[in-house]
This record gives sequence, C-alpha cells and structure tokens, in this order.
Amino acid sequence: MRFIVALFVCIVAGVSVSASAETCPGNPDALGTSRELTISPGDFTLLGTIQYKQTLPLKDHEVVITFDDGPLPPYTNIILDTLASQCVKATYFLVGQMARANPSVVRRIYNEGHTIGTHSQRHPHAFEHLSIQRVEREVHGGINSVTAALGDAKALSPFFRVPGLGRTNAIERFLEGKRLVTWSADVDTNDWWRGSSPGAIVKRAMRRLNTKGRGIILMHDIHRATAMALPILLKELKANGYEVVHVVAEGERPKSVPELMALPTTDEKVSPTVRTSAPSGARQNHRIKKDSGRRHHPAHSYYQSGLSDDRMSALGHKRTFAPQ
Ligand SMILES: [Zn+2]
Repeated sequence: MRFIVALFVCIVAGVSVSASAETCPGNPDALGTSRELTISPGDFTLLGTIQYKQTLPLKDHEVVITFDDGPLPPYTNIILDTLASQCVKATYFLVGQMARANPSVVRRIYNEGHTIGTHSQRHPHAFEHLSIQRVEREVHGGINSVTAALGDAKALSPFFRVPGLGRTNAIERFLEGKRLVTWSADVDTNDWWRGSSPGAIVKRAMRRLNTKGRGIILMHDIHRATAMALPILLKELKANGYEVVHVVAEGERPKSVPELMALPTTDEKVSPTVRTSAPSGARQNHRIKKDSGRRHHPAHSYYQSGLSDDRMSALGHKRTFAPQ
C-alpha cells in the first residue's frame, strides 16, 4: 500500500524514479545518481531560490549539479572524468561559441549521459540591459550553435540559464514563450572568484548547501580550481548524506550522438569530422529578486576587471568572451 501511495505521488509530481541501487562500475563507494527527475517546460518556468520563489521539487538532502560557460578543455574533460568515476550525472548550460569551438567535447558530455541546455551564444555582459531583439539573437544563436555541435536537435534540452543571472521580466517572458525553462540556482559556489582555492570552493559550497538543505548547485566547468574542487565536493556530499538527482526534460532524446574526432584546435572554421567507429560512450539509464545575482556570476568579474588566469591561458577563448 505504501508503495502504491508513493508511486501515485511520483506520478502526480511528474517524477520518474530510476533504479537508485544502480552500481557504479569499479567504484563501490561512488556518490552515484540516486534518481532522475523529469520535468516538463509547461510545468516549470523559473527555477532556483537565488532569484525565484520556485525551484525543483527536491527532497531534503537532494542536489542537482550544474555547470555553466563551457565547454573548455582541459577543465571540462577533467570534470567529465570525475563525474564518470563517481557515476554522477549533471546539467550543462553551454555557451554557443564555446560549443562550436569544441564540438567533440559537447558530444562527449551528451554521450556520458548528462543533460545539455544553453547559456546564450556569446555570453554578453549585462544581459539584463540588452534589447529583447538582442536577447532573442543570443538565445537562438546559442541554441543553434549547441544543436550544430550535437548534430541532433533532439539531444538538446529546453533549459536556459541567463548569462550573469541578468534576468528581467521581459527576458523571462520571452524564454517562457519559447517554452524554455529558466534556471537560476539554489546554491552558488562562486567558484569563479579570483584566487578561490579548491578547498575554499568546497567549504563555501557545503556551508551554503547545509543552510538550504537541498538544491541546484551552480558551478563553472571552465576553471582549474573547479576541476580540482569537484572530487572533494563529491566526497563531502556523500559524507554528509546528500544524493544527486539528474534532471531531464520530458520527451524523447537520442541514446547517443555520433562521436567526433577530438581536434587539436579551437578554430571554429574547422569542420568536425564524424568518427566512423561506433560511439563508445554508452548512455546509461539516461532516460531514466531576492538577490540581483550580480555578485553570483563570472560575467561581472571577467568583463569588468579583466580575464582570469584560466581564461588568459585559454588562448582563443578570450575573444569568445569579449564584451559586446
Ligand atoms: Zn555564465
């Protein structure tokens, strides 16, 4: 009877429960992914208590891990390795130009079972001050670029995170009109803060998470410190009894997309080459203004006070993130 009631509650809440007992090959102590949460853009429009009243229907000690601004090798790849070793599924908000520059990494993200949404085409500064026409170009441009990198429009989820969390009512109305779910976050790690050590990032993330008890965690997969912090953070989450929830959008998605040869360049003009061999990355159970936000996003740091060391070292990406 209890099972039937629980099942009923799950169906009503639009929640699909996956096998939480799924094992992680080669890592019996892995954090793992406890369940999938399927959401419909019609039911959820604004998510994340940093900026909104609404957020995901998570239970106590459940977290959703999200990464913005990538992909950017080698950090995105290091982070993917860490997630794979722990069987943790995350949600990525990719920047269009970054995706066009690194399509093989975009496909790796997808083929390793993570959810992919978008984060504009060029991540312009002060998104909240753009004209709605410019917002439209940025949103559509990002979607087009990430779709091109994936090679399959169905692989992309209708999830969007506003660059710099620079929201306005008009932007949110526009996104809702496009049936895009606007993601803010519940726990900001501020991993982009200059000089943040991996330890400091983890400490800050856990302190904020423990205050809220659950939520969407915001990170950026373009930083060395974040890549170094992630293994520690996942260990802390496990030690503190947190469970990872993987969010997927309602609807059919391909099991995988064809892999691309990893190209030793970020030149956007280079056409990706489809690998002839079958994809090796199996999609495992994949279908299974309180605060302005200004202090909560790298845009305001990078664009106002210059590029971080990581960005400086990522030659070629400097232009990608130049102020518009
Ligand atoms: Zn961003």
